[in-house]
Amino acid sequence: MRLPGHPHIAYRGDRLHIDDLALDDLGSRFGTPLYAYSRRAMLDALAGYQRALAGRDHLICYAMKANSNLAVLQTFAQAGCGFDIVSGGEFERVLAAGGDPAKVVFSGVGKTRAEMAQALAAGVGCFNVESESELELLSEVAAAAGRPAGISLRVNPDVDARTHPYISTGLKDNKFGIAHDAALAAYRRAASLPGIEVLGIDCHIGSQITAAEPYLDALDRVLDLVEAVESAGIPLHHLDLGGGLGITYTDEQPPAAEALVGAMLGRIDARGHGHRRILLEPGRSLVGNAGVLLAEVLYLKRGGEKAFCIVDAAMNDLMRPAMYEAWMGIVACRLRDQAPQEMDVVGPVCESGDWLGRARSLAVQPGDRLAVLSAGAYGMSMASNYNTRGRAAEVLVDGDACWLIRDRETPADQFRGEHLVPR
Ligand SMILES: *Cc1c(COP(=O)(O)O)cnc(C)c1O
Repeated sequence: MRLPGHPHIAYRGDRLHIDDLALDDLGSRFGTPLYAYSRRAMLDALAGYQRALAGRDHLICYAMKANSNLAVLQTFAQAGCGFDIVSGGEFERVLAAGGDPAKVVFSGVGKTRAEMAQALAAGVGCFNVESESELELLSEVAAAAGRPAGISLRVNPDVDARTHPYISTGLKDNKFGIAHDAALAAYRRAASLPGIEVLGIDCHIGSQITAAEPYLDALDRVLDLVEAVESAGIPLHHLDLGGGLGITYTDEQPPAAEALVGAMLGRIDARGHGHRRILLEPGRSLVGNAGVLLAEVLYLKRGGEKAFCIVDAAMNDLMRPAMYEAWMGIVACRLRDQAPQEMDVVGPVCESGDWLGRARSLAVQPGDRLAVLSAGAYGMSMASNYNTRGRAAEVLVDGDACWLIRDRETPADQFRGEHLVPR
């Protein structure tokens, strides 16, 4: 039995599998909470983008904040990807995973002087600059380092991505990017600065976007700017069109990556910009539906009118429900021959916001395992140690092979680096 939107996760008989492995067996072997990812699912998702871009000068920069495990980065690096990073720490991960620094684009509104110097020294491909003051500082750091900083300006096209307000980034009142009507002046400034080499233009309008129109609207606004900037005598080599394509959590029907990118390239060609190098920064759409979070049912209990299913995974493992009130699919790893009941699936953390799913229909008993679906993106990468809970282990699956790619965190791991005082 297939689960819509999850081609690599399916029931075989009464047991839920990821690729060729039963999730229950992974839970027995590695314990819970456990993140499990299908490498094939990641590469299949990437292939959609690659097909659309075949034959064109391009670079797919995986937005690694979605899932930054080294083995996940290794998977994408080996497939030819670059990376979209938002911190110096992420850069260290790229290098540790064998990624090519020249294929890294450095995004983010608050890069520090130290992060700029580190990225320049390591040979970063491009800084996506988000303000004029950042541009001034970057020029200074680059001049001191004796090597120019390649840049794009991240422009804010002021289009509504029609997604959750916390993950919408392309409206003029967002903190992200340079306002559309200020961009030409910022490019003039950039071209005049000694440490700066203008490479391209960048835009990223939000996340979990499920329609093509916001992308095409933003693209038109960006191409208008490209024409204005080049008319001012500043050549732009690449177009970085960001990430943000959504996935199916419940009934969303986002365009396929291949179709969306195909439509954007069609617009780019039609407006006479087909010769430019294309960069994309997908995150969620490459990894989201490749992963699940496994949890064990600890207790079933009733509280007033409600039934609760208390599991060993919590908001510290998976923040999306508590933070965005996100709906994520929750299914049993083994189907039982009993009538399902409606219950809230909650974790052990001391917060009423600690829930993974509300009013879910489940047929489970204590000791059973549940899989939270679509947990490959913004799951482990947002995990915390709240309540001194160790972060989960992670495994990567490929067919019938599987590797532990992160150890379960121990309490001693967590307080390493803390100190008692002498008195
Ligand atoms: C987060 C982010 C992305 C990726 O967004 P997804 O929704 O995960 O595809 C791309 N570019 C930038 C600048 C980002 O901040």
